[in-house]
Amino acid sequence: LPVLAVVGRPNVGKSTLVNRVLGRREAVVQDVPGVTRDRVSYPAEWAGKRFTIVDTGGWEIDVAGLDAAVAAQAEAAVDLADAVLLVVDARVGVTEADDRIVKMLRRSGKPVVLAANKVDSPVQEGDAAALWALGLGEPYAVSALHGRGSGELLDAAVAILPEVSAVAGPERSDDLHRIALVGRPNVGKSSLLNQLAGSERVVVNELAGTTRDPVDEVVEFDGRQWVLVDTAGIRRRIRQARGADYYAVLRTQGAVEKAEVGVVLLDASEAITEQDIRVIQQVVDAGRALVIVNNKWDLVDEDRRKQLEWEADHELAHVDWAPRINLSARTGWHTNRLARALDTALAGWNTRVPTGRLNAFLGELQAATPHPVRGGKQPRILFATQVQAAPPRIVIFTTGFLDAGYRRFIENRLREEFGFVGTPIQIGVRVRE
Ligand code: GDP
Repeated sequence: LPVLAVVGRPNVGKSTLVNRVLGRREAVVQDVPGVTRDRVSYPAEWAGKRFTIVDTGGWEIDVAGLDAAVAAQAEAAVDLADAVLLVVDARVGVTEADDRIVKMLRRSGKPVVLAANKVDSPVQEGDAAALWALGLGEPYAVSALHGRGSGELLDAAVAILPEVSAVAGPERSDDLHRIALVGRPNVGKSSLLNQLAGSERVVVNELAGTTRDPVDEVVEFDGRQWVLVDTAGIRRRIRQARGADYYAVLRTQGAVEKAEVGVVLLDASEAITEQDIRVIQQVVDAGRALVIVNNKWDLVDEDRRKQLEWEADHELAHVDWAPRINLSARTGWHTNRLARALDTALAGWNTRVPTGRLNAFLGELQAATPHPVRGGKQPRILFATQVQAAPPRIVIFTTGFLDAGYRRFIENRLREEFGFVGTPIQIGVRVRE
């Protein structure tokens, strides 16, 4: 559904207006504290058009008087929206914070409808007219509280909404999880596939009514069904010709992109190679959950085990958040542990941290460990929000660029606090003056 974000400074009446749109069925304003805080989007309908309305009213964090923070909060919502309903308090008129929001809206290029709220009676229409000065076209005079003028405003709002949302949709809702087994040649992918599939193997296109790609297979392990994507590439040996490396990279790319989780197999009996690291990086770059499998554990003796630990510490430190399991595809030893690792990684990948909790946490983190002063300036975090899951993507609005070290620090602390195990986290930093 197309998304309409309702933005504006605190106390202009955003939530009251959203209530009005929802026909007051959802008690947004009077709801229990902490409950409404993070529920921000609601299905709505006006004039036969269905859309999602995003109420940023509950997001306000404790940065009193900081106009930049207000604009940052609005910007986070605007990013996710197809169109914007800007609410201004007509009785107060245009403030510094309103100006900032308007500038941000211009930059975003999203269509905007302007609501001049708190026009409770005709004598106040003049207040609304003053808002032409914002340069956003006609200010629609409304009283969110009493309902006055809200019909015209909503007509205008749905008129600027596209038919379908142009904003990136949510992750695919498949009942079966999709997994890619990847790794350089001879690490044991087809052995593991055979071990997992056992006699339960079903080629996907044999399933009635399936529209899945016939190169995917449904296999059953841990009492559940899983889709192993692109298994044809594993079964059909790619000839080791010139350029095979290039095709291997492409193949991995394709498989990983179709999957939720990339299971990277390593040959634990041999040293970790550059190619292993590259495959892991492909999973991370694709934004997929990651599980690392040390295969051929039956060949690993005590010396090799120590060596491998050392190698992992040095070469896999950047993905130390990924579940790692030792198993033997040949003997089947510990292959039953794969399902748990997959569940863990999938849970991390799908984690959504509510905006209220995220900001409370970052607020404390910043108070305890502020960013170091750089060139006389100290960047501050204004506001943060997780804009998507699968993989988690968090946008942090700041007053200045954050050091790589401080970003890593934030990422590590976020991982500890919210359990982003087995998933890359994408952190975007937006600097606001
Ligand atoms: P792929 O190229 O990644 O699909 O690797 P294969 O599954 O074809 O395995 C390559 C070789 O490693 C074969 O000779 C397998 O028998 C052997 N292999 C695979 N898994 C194991 C294992 O867990 N232990 C041992 N000892 N050998 C294995």
